[in-house]
Amino acid sequence: MAWYPGAKRMELQPESNGQPAIRPTQFIMHSIAAPWTARRMYEYWRDSSNLESHFGLGYEGDLAQYIGTETRADANYQANRRPDGTGAVSIETASNLKHTDPWTDEQVEQLIRLGVWLHQRHGLPLRICRSHDDPGYGYHRLHSAWSSGGTACPGDARVNQFRKVVFPGIVKRAKGQPSPAPVEDPMPQVLFESQTGGPTLAAGERVELPAARDTAILRGPCVYNVSIGLKLTRTSADKRVRLRFVHVDAETRRRSAGLEVDVPTRDGETYAQVSRRGELPAGQYLKVEALAEEPVVVAHRIVEGLYWPA
Ligand SMILES: [Zn+2]
Repeated sequence: MAWYPGAKRMELQPESNGQPAIRPTQFIMHSIAAPWTARRMYEYWRDSSNLESHFGLGYEGDLAQYIGTETRADANYQANRRPDGTGAVSIETASNLKHTDPWTDEQVEQLIRLGVWLHQRHGLPLRICRSHDDPGYGYHRLHSAWSSGGTACPGDARVNQFRKVVFPGIVKRAKGQPSPAPVEDPMPQVLFESQTGGPTLAAGERVELPAARDTAILRGPCVYNVSIGLKLTRTSADKRVRLRFVHVDAETRRRSAGLEVDVPTRDGETYAQVSRRGELPAGQYLKVEALAEEPVVVAHRIVEGLYWPA
């Protein structure tokens, strides 16, 4: 049982005593889609939900811990506790109802301090998780195994802060250096594009989805771990959209496709996500293709992930 001295202890029972132990290897940040204080989050989990996180953080920087960091918490789906006994430490942070607002300065400061403590106390490596079970730091939507059915959490503004302020802040302070320091592993490049709008997908036609400039998400040689999230509108229940990544050779146009992911659609609006890790040889592009059973509209696209240029 480990309790962070910088947080107010508000122990949740029966979860704290009843849930199995973990060896914490990851730190995952969330937005709770409510402008709550840390105390209000405690009351919520105590009274009405059991998808708790270890920590809760209000707008003012009020930070509480509900469960010891060596006990499983339930906010991260497959990362809560893996078969080998490792798991993620999680934090919920106050946000507006649609989690579109950035973290306040007070929240950023607390996230950095807690991130440093987790490095010191539990030995979390100073890197962004390269896969769903890779030790390090991340945010909820970074890996699809961390949620059931996909999520936009913690929101674009906070993903941006994570990349630019929070994670670099943790690295810098943990190493006690005033200037940006290299992390332990080769530093990945972060891929992040969030765009409103997109093509209308005609029924039964495979379409290459555009990224920022064209349809190429990455160009080899590199190793990558990328996911694409799509918000689709005008969908109906019980239809399907299929997504897959493809490697396309720039010269020969030869394509090799990854496993196709079948996403069942809902009435009105559907959020679809597909992830892939791989190695892209020199001269090849990474693209993503969609195939819809009925005409649907792509209303928003997010491409994100990490890549290591060779
Ligand atoms: Zn979340």
